[in-house]
Amino acid sequence: MTTSATEGPVTKGGQERRIIVMIGAPGAGKGTQAERLSGRLGLPHVSTGKLFRSAVRNENEIGAQVRAYVEAGSLVPDEVAVKVVDDRLHEVDAGAGAILDGFPRTRNQAVALDEMLARADDRVCAALYVEVATEDLVARLTGRRVCTIDDQHVYHIVTVPPRQDGICDIEGAPLRQREDDQPETLRKRLERQLAPMYEVIDHYADSGVLFPVRGDQPADKVTEALLQALAASERIG
Ligand code: AMP
Repeated sequence: MTTSATEGPVTKGGQERRIIVMIGAPGAGKGTQAERLSGRLGLPHVSTGKLFRSAVRNENEIGAQVRAYVEAGSLVPDEVAVKVVDDRLHEVDAGAGAILDGFPRTRNQAVALDEMLARADDRVCAALYVEVATEDLVARLTGRRVCTIDDQHVYHIVTVPPRQDGICDIEGAPLRQREDDQPETLRKRLERQLAPMYEVIDHYADSGVLFPVRGDQPADKVTEALLQALAASERIG
């Protein structure tokens, strides 16, 4: 962390901070899309899954608190997730905003995020929902492979294969299957995570900032649809 949580966010040139929430079931492609939007909009991609996995790898205090949950594919306690995001949003690179990926995952987290942002006179400007039918999710996830060096480099054995079998195009490192993408863990993950996700969707529908986008189209089309949704959210907001 580069600043303490009490210093408050840094706003850029008086412009409104853009806090964008990405919603999608595991396997909907929201991580890939969040990464693309991050590049297009110049905002940091804040993935709680990635923050937790790196905490587990680094064996720090947060890692010790979340390890069992992450490995079992269940949600870590709301207060831990909220604290991690609060700290992350106080880092300097999030001054102009951030793209939240994987947070909020429950209604409680969504309410906590609203409260956290309201303290700095901010709000979620758009909740982008990448929508994919449940039956397509299992097929997508069991074929997913990630780079052993950076797990944001994501492939699929059928739909997005690497140039060389089993090797990351970017790092040249071997690919692996995430522990929580193994079929048994996956089934539990979907069961546990879909119900709270629908509550989060309802929360943002109630706030009038929900923008659903079809996730069952080529990745470039999904990105364009998300950018259009953001432009619409700015016209409305
Ligand atoms: P993901 O990479 O987003 O699929 O997240 C991987 C794992 O991290 C999840 O299965 C959960 O165990 C944990 N996780 C990530 N984000 C959250 C969150 N907002 N709330 C609770 N647990 C989370």
